[in-house]
Amino acid sequence: MSQAPPPYPSDQKGGAPPPAYGPPPAGYGPPPGGQYPPTGQPAQPGYYPQNQQATTVVVAQPTIAVVQQYRESPVHTRCPYCQAEVMTGTHYETGTFTWVICLILALVGCWIGCCLIPFCVDGCKDVIHTCPNCRQQVARWSRM
Ligand SMILES: [Zn+2]
Repeated sequence: MSQAPPPYPSDQKGGAPPPAYGPPPAGYGPPPGGQYPPTGQPAQPGYYPQNQQATTVVVAQPTIAVVQQYRESPVHTRCPYCQAEVMTGTHYETGTFTWVICLILALVGCWIGCCLIPFCVDGCKDVIHTCPNCRQQVARWSRM
């Protein structure tokens, strides 16, 4: 028969070229992990893109006290008399703390004169919160 193979393998020429010599691969882009600097130095803090870190919004929920804290400053509250949302007005009145300071001053030797100082100092008096709408006393803050 005449189906003998060619005696020399080097005779295989022509035909389709081997696919290995096709066009160069288009994926010659940046290497994997191309976000890092090519010099290999360690990434500095803050170098990462900002969308990488997920901003976890921690909502600090303060424990809102139901009872309003009536102190020296006006308080936004609801008036129990006229049911209006008001900002309380404050003024000072002589309270227990005022008398205690007066007694202490008297005991240490500050007689008539000096022991009356607490009655002139607002920092020694109670704070009265009044409603500016109906003029009622909403709360009273005693320093004792
Ligand atoms: Zn009121």
